Amino acid sequence: MPIGDAGDAPLTVPIRGSQAPRRGVRDRRSQRDGSPLQHAAMTMLAPKPWIAAIAPYVPGRATTDSGVKAAKLSSNENPLGTAPEARQAYAAAAETLERYPDPAAHDLREAIGKHYGIEADRVIHGTGSDEVLHLAAGAFAGAGDEVLYVRYGFAVYPIAARRVGATPIEAADGDYATDVDALLAAVTERTRVVFVANPNNPTGTYTSKAEIARLHAGLPADCLLVLDQAYTEYLDPEDDDGALELARTQPNVLVTRTFSKIFGLAAERIGWGYGAPQVIDAMHRIRAPFNVTTGGQAAAIASLAATDFVEASRAHNAQWRGWFEREIAKLGNAGLRAIPSKANFVLVLFAGAVTAEHAYGALMERGFIVRWLPGQGLRHGLRITIGTEEQTRALVAALREIVGG
Ligand code: PMP
Repeated sequence: MPIGDAGDAPLTVPIRGSQAPRRGVRDRRSQRDGSPLQHAAMTMLAPKPWIAAIAPYVPGRATTDSGVKAAKLSSNENPLGTAPEARQAYAAAAETLERYPDPAAHDLREAIGKHYGIEADRVIHGTGSDEVLHLAAGAFAGAGDEVLYVRYGFAVYPIAARRVGATPIEAADGDYATDVDALLAAVTERTRVVFVANPNNPTGTYTSKAEIARLHAGLPADCLLVLDQAYTEYLDPEDDDGALELARTQPNVLVTRTFSKIFGLAAERIGWGYGAPQVIDAMHRIRAPFNVTTGGQAAAIASLAATDFVEASRAHNAQWRGWFEREIAKLGNAGLRAIPSKANFVLVLFAGAVTAEHAYGALMERGFIVRWLPGQGLRHGLRITIGTEEQTRALVAALREIVGG
């Protein structure tokens, strides 16, 4: 089903109406005090309707209502921080602050190519993988086209679709997970881009290699399958959804990755994509020239080599995510349920007397910022990032107190 149209626009847009002065005729009302601000307020500049229809992305909060020191478990950041090598490389880059960064991010793409065994000239770098997602939509979809993703998918997908005038289409989920049959059933002759996050955010669910392959096989050749792997490094070593291999061999698959999560470089905004030469070429045409900073490129290269840090981060997450899920299971009588997660966060559903909204506020009062997502149809859920051991234990104790478990 198409979701929302200009009718549910969150922005208040001045409508050009019969009262509007003719072009070139200065509205007398704007001469009241002659201030530029007042003049601007009185003119009829309006964003494009598809832009006005965008519900702005709501980022995870960093501060509590009362300003108490809080554990920020709302943005899926790495609780272990950043590898020391990456910090050093970032600091060293301060020597050349007067220079533009390498627009081609040559060394970074070479390092990515070597690390993952893929061709560097088929890698595109982005200001976070967010930009790469936007570039994919911008290069392959536009007015009259459809961009498809699953319900409870990543919040940037509808924004990326609308930004280019395309129509976002949401397929049904299967108990909060990606349902390949529902996605395939929603494909029309207008579908140009399909976004699938694996693991998915905000649900943490995982789609198997066989299911991803089945989805790709069922898509028309003129449709780009974007496999968003922002959390792939958190998977168990034996899990591989085959995305890089599909992107290596198929002309219509793009894989996106990020340095924001397990590599602990969210502040620097570095992501990348990998796909067929013609896919990458089209995206480069609309990429901002100097989109990844010198410090970011240097830190990302160094972080790829910090394999001990990455493995420690993965192991920490696996241990405490498992513990957290088991603790939530003990609160089943209070109506809590954790959706099984393969990422660095868990979606907890509230079906008992204590609502997710109440728990969100009560956790905030106790110094924990988590993510409540009513805007994404998850009024009954909280997405909670796996933090340090101390944070995770304390959060569970607080939750137990709040729901009376
Ligand atoms: N994809 C998914 C599924 C995400 O959760 C995120 C981060 N919230 C991103 C992409 C974008 O991350 P970044 O722009 O920091 O690379």
